[in-house]
Amino acid sequence: MAKYDCDLFVLGAGSGGVRAARLAAMSGAKVLVAEEHRVGGTCVIRGCVPKKFMVYASEFAHHFKMAEGYGWTVGESRFDWPGFIAEKDKEIARLSGIYVRNLQNAGAELVHGKARLVDAHTVEVEGHGTVTADKILVAVGARPWMPAELPGVEHAISSNEAFHLPELPKRIVIAGGGYIALEFAGIFNGLGVDTTLVHRGPNVLRGFDDDVRAHISDEMEKRGIKVILATQHAAIEKTATGFVSRFTNGHHCESDVVMFALGREPYVEGLGLEAAGVKLAENGAVVVDDYSRTNVENIWAVGDVTNRINLTPVAIREGHAFADTVFNDRPTKFDHEMVASAVFSQPPIGSVGLSEADARHKLGKVDIYLARFRPMKYAFTSSAERSLVKLVVEAATEKVVGCHVVGPDSPEIIQLAAVAMKMGVTKSQWDSTCAVHPTLAEELVTLREKYTPQGLGQAA
Ligand code: NDP
Repeated sequence: MAKYDCDLFVLGAGSGGVRAARLAAMSGAKVLVAEEHRVGGTCVIRGCVPKKFMVYASEFAHHFKMAEGYGWTVGESRFDWPGFIAEKDKEIARLSGIYVRNLQNAGAELVHGKARLVDAHTVEVEGHGTVTADKILVAVGARPWMPAELPGVEHAISSNEAFHLPELPKRIVIAGGGYIALEFAGIFNGLGVDTTLVHRGPNVLRGFDDDVRAHISDEMEKRGIKVILATQHAAIEKTATGFVSRFTNGHHCESDVVMFALGREPYVEGLGLEAAGVKLAENGAVVVDDYSRTNVENIWAVGDVTNRINLTPVAIREGHAFADTVFNDRPTKFDHEMVASAVFSQPPIGSVGLSEADARHKLGKVDIYLARFRPMKYAFTSSAERSLVKLVVEAATEKVVGCHVVGPDSPEIIQLAAVAMKMGVTKSQWDSTCAVHPTLAEELVTLREKYTPQGLGQAA
């Protein structure tokens, strides 16, 4: 008789958990997966996927405006928020169903309910009793962090609620300067909502290249978003007509909705990790080694709960590497270097590798190649939007160590730049690639002169 009820128990059916569970089950292991919400996790249910649909929906207003420059007469346009949300939810339900079927087809068993570790080999699932497991994978993700001490914080929503607002507000204040704040600012602004973005820092997107940060702030303002920097909420007050956001600089702003996007925290609450002896970092993240193994020999963790790089494809690859290592006899570490990402702001950003500041700090001398230009797409319009392409090159090796693009299609462009950079491409190899014309991407392979903040020329 088997020592345990199952070979693997996975907590969380999101991107990382589902990939790991499927591969483990396909190797012949008996796998149970517990999920307290809907299958698919943050990405599918309340993250990347519905967000991208909202970005698409919101871009139409901009396209309608551009269309006029190209000779179109665009009639009256109206946006049906409840209708869109219903369609979006239908598609999300379909995708969640695919995840369920994929798990079932692989032979994994799904259990609905919140799971909690009783000890290192025992899991209790609410409403289902306890199960013993040889190995356990924690893949429960993260959730929005809200400043509990802030007066009136109960009036603010997080991105979770933004996907299901009963009606489109007329005015919104969004706090934060990260991925989620910028993406939702673009979405609501595009949908015609009077949008104010408030961020405590001197500029948005800390950690990104400084030229990108400055560029996107300007471009968001050109699109009509009010960007307020160097202040933050001191309080939120409810009024007869909406809410008043009071800021630490003494100013205030009225809106119908206040949304906080101030980061996310590992969702470890109530998981019983202390009962199993699993070590957590100060910020609550599960501490793991390169193979995603915790300090407890039979427990692993992948995805946002480990707070390494909090992106869906990273969680998937970590889950895949775990299953390869533990169930397929192929020890695999996921390499967290050169992971590209995109911010679906409007215009969007694609970025891979080091910012100029990080490269100077880590590598010493670097050469910069940079161009700002008006995208061809806007030739017939009054739009003052500009695009940015920037390469950071290590002087000693001539390796391209950073690539940053702000402009139409930059998320698509950056995926392929990442392939070359992952292979260690040098600037001369990069330049030997013939351009595709006429595209925005060709600007990346035609950057010949080194850039200094004063203009083009030989960098010191
Ligand atoms: P981010 O970490 O990207 O940004 C959080 C923002 O909140 C920062 O601007 C931060 O400012 C600010 N902040 C943090 N604490 C406070 C505070 N106490 N008071 C005021 N401001 C504060 O988090 P997000 O919530 O935007 O997104 C979470 C993660 O999800 C992202 O980091 C990303 O990994 C992932 N994600 C990826 C997406 C994509 O790939 N397109 C889309 C959405 C999310 P400061 O810089 O000063 O610390």
